Amino acid sequence: HIYLDNAATTPMADAVIDTMTARMKDMFGNASSTHWFGREAHTVMDKSRQILADSINAKPNDIVMTSGATESNNTAITETARARRDLGKHIITTAIEHPSVMKPLAALEDEGFRVTYLPVDETGRISMDDFEAALDDDTILVTIMFGNNEVGSRMPIEAIGARLKDHQAWFHTDATQAYGLQDIDVEAMNIDMLSTSAHKINGPKGIGFLYRDPKILFKPLLKGGEQELKRRAGTENIVEIAGFATAVSLLTAEEKATRQAKYLGFKKQLLARLDDAGIDYKVNGDLAPDNLNHVLNIWYPGISTYALQTNLDLSGFAISGGSACTAGSLEPSHVLTAMFGADSPRIGESIRTSFGSENTPEQIDAYADALIRIINRLKAKAN
Ligand code: PLP
Repeated sequence: HIYLDNAATTPMADAVIDTMTARMKDMFGNASSTHWFGREAHTVMDKSRQILADSINAKPNDIVMTSGATESNNTAITETARARRDLGKHIITTAIEHPSVMKPLAALEDEGFRVTYLPVDETGRISMDDFEAALDDDTILVTIMFGNNEVGSRMPIEAIGARLKDHQAWFHTDATQAYGLQDIDVEAMNIDMLSTSAHKINGPKGIGFLYRDPKILFKPLLKGGEQELKRRAGTENIVEIAGFATAVSLLTAEEKATRQAKYLGFKKQLLARLDDAGIDYKVNGDLAPDNLNHVLNIWYPGISTYALQTNLDLSGFAISGGSACTAGSLEPSHVLTAMFGADSPRIGESIRTSFGSENTPEQIDAYADALIRIINRLKAKAN
């Protein structure tokens, strides 16, 4: 079986498993305890937090450990909107955010907040003109993803950050898919809050962090003990935090650049094979090199997502119809709907392939062989 669904989740790196195994054996103390066991656990947590902070040019005290990007997004959106209710009621986002952003925003609309969902073009990007038109004196929060998980489009994060420098609105970005592939500097990019998750970068599931600028005050989403400088209650998961830090330490600037180039190469390799075989297809999005290069979403006209995905699975290739979160449901992709309209045939005839560090050019060739064989067979059947 060949795994090509790395935007859903990634296998853990050996070094991560080694760190976690060691910490499971020797680090059971509660980091809040004042005795030796607690202090040891606290030391591991501090060292890990420093690595996470350094990865985005932040300070360790501005990193709040969470159970993953879902919790980070919920906290950043719900709690900061509530904390700023007296300053304004308007929030700006995009039409193609992850459900862990969309659903808290829908709940805030029920509480009386007004949300603008910026449209995207056929490349999956918003326009700065639309952004400018939406921004007003009532805007208190802007939440725009760094890059999209279904089509890989990169949002104009630098331009938004620069525009908001002298505006009251706080800028949150869900960087879950970009973190570990792209260079992120919260200072240079004027990002006030950032969400991410370990399991997308060869770390463990169930751990992530929320970066927040020290100026930002909000009530914890999870209330209880005074962990995480009173911003997130619950005993810290030292084993997972240490595993997360190990995964991050493997992703040097050089490694990130290598991966971006490698994944862009995989895209070109696969598309060249489809071209050679005369397969009818269109990329949903574009091949801009600053996109999230691990994600490739392709429309095969006349071929149903379900048939293609099932046949690929039977042939040993794991890919995804859309995002993993919506794969189990029959809901059409809100991302492709926003890009191409609700009536577009692309919505039921597209699949997402997402590359990871373990993938090789030989695997991509084998995948192209299977794709071409299956598509030609399905076409022949339909005729
Ligand atoms: N945001 C984006 C863009 C994602 O791709 C994911 C992945 O599922 C999430 C948020 C949720 O992350 P987690 O599974 O850590 O809660």
